Amino acid sequence: MSEKTIFQKIVDREIPAPLVYEDDLVAAFNDIAPQAPIHVLIVPKKVIPRVGEAEAEDQATLGALLLAAGKIAEKLGVKDRSKGFRLVINHGRDGGETVPHLHVHLLAGRDLTWPPG
Ligand code: 5GP
Repeated sequence: MSEKTIFQKIVDREIPAPLVYEDDLVAAFNDIAPQAPIHVLIVPKKVIPRVGEAEAEDQATLGALLLAAGKIAEKLGVKDRSKGFRLVINHGRDGGETVPHLHVHLLAGRDLTWPPG
């Protein structure tokens, strides 16, 4: 069995990190190096290395990640269209993935430019 990722250690409460949100399938916590005033990472409790490696049996977990994003956005006061937020999933080297445990970045609190870098 490969070594646990930092995110798995947070989910398993081996590393302390205040959770912004938690349900049966996912947990969320603040990014250690925020790229916006709000930068939350939403991770599945099941280890899925990256989004392209999710399987049919992970459908509920993938849905739970997006549903959690909406709940977190509401909790943090950015769900209204007059504010808003961005979700990012990085897959692999060119995508900018650095932690091999699927995670959704929720970014908000500033005018997020497009196209992204
Ligand atoms: P990726 O580049 O894989 O899409 O995103 C990984 C994210 O995890 C980065 O934004 C990075 O700042 C964040 N990160 C890395 N190590 C830790 C950590 O120990 N705790 C927290 N909360 N975030 C981390």
